Amino acid sequence: MQTECIFCNIVQRTIPAQPVYEDDKLLAFNDISPAAPVHVLVIPKKHIANLLEITPEDNGLIDHLMLTIPKIARQLGLDEAGFRLVVNTKDNGGQTVNHLHIHILGGRFMTWPPG
Ligand code: IMP
Repeated sequence: MQTECIFCNIVQRTIPAQPVYEDDKLLAFNDISPAAPVHVLVIPKKHIANLLEITPEDNGLIDHLMLTIPKIARQLGLDEAGFRLVVNTKDNGGQTVNHLHIHILGGRFMTWPPG
């Protein structure tokens, strides 16, 4: 059964995605509209709307998320040249999907400041 949250549906496999990493707490999959040669989204399986909604009880989850990203980056071959992480948060941050996600962008040089 589909929910209103597109990323929860991806976790439930009720809509398709291209996973690149999965464990009991996290899923990482290719962005449907890549902004770089490598563009992966890493999400907690638990629905958390955005970074402002994390609570002390998510402590272990966030630790795990940040500790797993280097593992995924190495798997994607981004450890040599580097990569960028982006966490868009609410309207001014440009967040369009209300389920916490970390963009891993790589495979090209990233400019600064972002648009
Ligand atoms: P945001 O703008 O930071 O919220 O990022 C949401 C991202 O989700 C965008 O880069 C979208 O391209 C991506 N996205 C939206 N729907 C899907 C999907 O069904 N599969 C994979 N990526 C998606």
